[in-house]
Amino acid sequence: KLQKAHEDPNSTPTFSFEFFVPKTSQGVQNLYDRMDRMYNLNPQFIDVTWNAGGRLSNLTTDIVSTAQSVLGLETCMHLTCTNMPIELIDKALKDAYDSGCQNILALRGDPPIEGGEWTAIEGGFTYAKDLIKYIREKYGNHFDIGVAAYPEGHPEEPDQDILIDYLKEKVDLGADFIITQMFYDVDNFIKWCSKLRSKGINIPIIPGIMPISSYAAFKRRATWCEINIPEIFEKKLYEIKDDDQKVRQIGTELLVDMCFKLIQSGYVKHLHFYTMNLEKSSIMILESLNLIKLNEKLVLEDLPWRKSLNPN
Ligand code: FAD
Repeated sequence: KLQKAHEDPNSTPTFSFEFFVPKTSQGVQNLYDRMDRMYNLNPQFIDVTWNAGGRLSNLTTDIVSTAQSVLGLETCMHLTCTNMPIELIDKALKDAYDSGCQNILALRGDPPIEGGEWTAIEGGFTYAKDLIKYIREKYGNHFDIGVAAYPEGHPEEPDQDILIDYLKEKVDLGADFIITQMFYDVDNFIKWCSKLRSKGINIPIIPGIMPISSYAAFKRRATWCEINIPEIFEKKLYEIKDDDQKVRQIGTELLVDMCFKLIQSGYVKHLHFYTMNLEKSSIMILESLNLIKLNEKLVLEDLPWRKSLNPN
């Protein structure tokens, strides 16, 4: 479906929501309620993260199963190699398969939460590409496979050309789509997309959009991901930094502008929201973009997109 929309210059942009695994059973129940509400916004898919080190991993497969088979959401399961012996990888894939899930985001994974450098376990996989190869060998084309990418570099490999070569390896082994690390620098993203295309990477590129809910969280996440904060973001947000409501409002305006530019660039047909298990900020952005109408399971066939995407 993503591939089809990607090839059609007139298609209305679609969107998806990422959720992380809550730590408590009450948190899980709240998440199901939230997913149920967000179902009505008609996301193309939702995805559920995999905890570094496999902690709470059975919760990921449980949530994926409920989202897919009970709530009826097209679901994508993150799966990582961190501390994952093959038997656990096999179990996770079988659970996903049995629940009707057909999408996996295949990742190397963050280092374990206790810190230290990432190391492979004996007999386990070292890179995301090993996992992609394994899934393709075992399940053929049952799963659509997504991979992670970093328009502003990865903490372990800042050289962008090398990272693009590694990304190409993942694509050549059978990845179907790319989801990026969060970013705010649109100009850099567009140049990066052009580089990917010139290197023969032609699958859909999905930008990861991190809504801005408070100034402190905005700064913390940008620092953690080692991404550039464009001057306009800093200028507009710093002066209102102590007023969360204003930050959310101006943050929404900045992100709406950013999403509009992304779609206008022609590289982007789908927006992926890092919801942080909250709904308000993502909804505010989607509403302003006219991609949802609240309380209606309808994506607006809105003309501005068509005009901007198709000059004829
Ligand atoms: P890879 O592509 O395997 O790269 C890992 C490292 O190895 C990089 O430094 C790369 O430069 C290097 N490398 C790759 N190929 C080669 C090669 N052939 N030779 C030598 N070096 C190579 N983490 C989680 O734990 N759980 C999640 O749910 C999760 N979800 C994510 C979702 C998205 C959209 C993104 C962008 C990241 C997510 N992460 C998650 C974080 C991710 O796991 C880390 O950033 C991790 O460090 C890299 O994962 P990767 O899949 O990109 O790995």
